[in-house]
Amino acid sequence: MRELLPPDSSFSLRQQPGRWLRKQLLTHDHLVIVTPSTIPESLWRQLPAELQGLSGTVRRLGKAGQRQLLAAHLPPGTRVTLARLPAVPADGSGTCMHALLRFGGQVAAEALSEKPKQLALLLLGVPEAEQPRVAGSLLLGLHAHHLPLPQFRSKPRLSPLARVTLLGAERELDLERVMIEAEALHLVRWLTSLPANHLDAGNYRELARTLAKRHGWSFRFHDQGELRRLGAGAFLAVAQGNGPGSEAGIVRLRYRPDGRRSKPDIALVGKGIIFDTGGVNLKPFRAMLDMHQDMSGSAVALGLLLALTRLKSRLAVDCYLAITENRIGPAAVKPRDVIRALDGTTIEMIHTDAEGRLVLADTLALAGREKPSMICDFATLTGSCVHAVSERYSGVFSNRPALHGPLVMAGQASGERLWPFPLDPDFDDDLDSSVADVLQCAVDAPADHILAARFLQRFVPADTTWVHMDLSSASRRQGLGQVPGGATGFGIRCMLALLVDQREAVGQALGH
Ligand SMILES: [Zn+2]
Repeated sequence: MRELLPPDSSFSLRQQPGRWLRKQLLTHDHLVIVTPSTIPESLWRQLPAELQGLSGTVRRLGKAGQRQLLAAHLPPGTRVTLARLPAVPADGSGTCMHALLRFGGQVAAEALSEKPKQLALLLLGVPEAEQPRVAGSLLLGLHAHHLPLPQFRSKPRLSPLARVTLLGAERELDLERVMIEAEALHLVRWLTSLPANHLDAGNYRELARTLAKRHGWSFRFHDQGELRRLGAGAFLAVAQGNGPGSEAGIVRLRYRPDGRRSKPDIALVGKGIIFDTGGVNLKPFRAMLDMHQDMSGSAVALGLLLALTRLKSRLAVDCYLAITENRIGPAAVKPRDVIRALDGTTIEMIHTDAEGRLVLADTLALAGREKPSMICDFATLTGSCVHAVSERYSGVFSNRPALHGPLVMAGQASGERLWPFPLDPDFDDDLDSSVADVLQCAVDAPADHILAARFLQRFVPADTTWVHMDLSSASRRQGLGQVPGGATGFGIRCMLALLVDQREAVGQALGH
């Protein structure tokens, strides 16, 4: 299944901190000069004479908020993009990370449109404290625009970028984290973009097995026979519409630092609906069109496992991918069917397009049996979350409200913005069933994203810290942050900000 994994087409990165020389600037196909939003005259005087001539043009462009970017063509064949950073807010809060990522994406799109092989990034007058964030945003932008998504053209369109040189930083920057994030983000975007006839259930399983071998994870697959023995009737209710030969099932991957055997610190759980037709409650054309992306949550879980592994995290991580299609057919589950979940809960079916919460219910219960300290699940789960926060944010829920603050902060720091929603028990009134323990979803009640979260928390052990991410921003036609339109890879950076940078806050919530 190697051909289903993204090819290694990254560019190499060279850093040349400290004073730069004139000849270093003009020996690349393309030079990007990044300056503060207002450019003091003294900065221009540092540039070679042929570049100083641009200052007048830039000042003109700067007036009345015109474009920040200008591609200039210089005689020796070097092309230049002048990129002025977003203005620093007057309240002293510092430029927000999301705005920096947008900037990184705009600069990358402008620079790569010229198809350079060698590109130099010059930080000119960027304060030392801001240099890591600015360089990180530019590199994430370049990766997002350079790395190819799956294409099946006879003549693939590829960016020829082979090398990026970073100039003008005070000292060598630690960019390893950014490079690892870029790799994980790309894996999520790649998998999410694959057509469902290429990334089918069997291929997805084998792809996970290949990655497990490569990264030293243990691999286990719960096939439908085993899930039947386990009583995973909620997952199987969705899979039963697939028809004969279906390779649906739940993949479990396991990362243990130093190979030690231990119970998991954290379990990552992802919704992996290969294609969502809606089932018997069939989706209309527009709503079904991009439903090959309904496995994005599982790709986020997988990408996060990859990033934590590459960062040599001390966390023991389990990762579950709940993989099936949601199809119509003679055997497909129907409204008012009553099914029994893995933990014995009986569920009255209402709408067959609310399949995500069913596959997650059994997968959460399965993950909970291993007694992790924390479970995080990721799913493109509800339309109502998109209505609530648009595709610019994703919604989060937790059974530990103390985590709301750290989640919002992780969203701001990473530029992948998160917004917490309530999870009060009285919402359960809307899920009362007259024949079963719980309704799958409400027939007619507002805030389906909250009801879905209330439904899911039943399957999480009460003593386990739980975070549920409703991935309303998994895909956005106009792009998001540094990422061009389509799958965004949202979930990697904000979760690393939470699990790596806010370890203390998370540890407190875990009672460590
Ligand atoms: Zn659905």
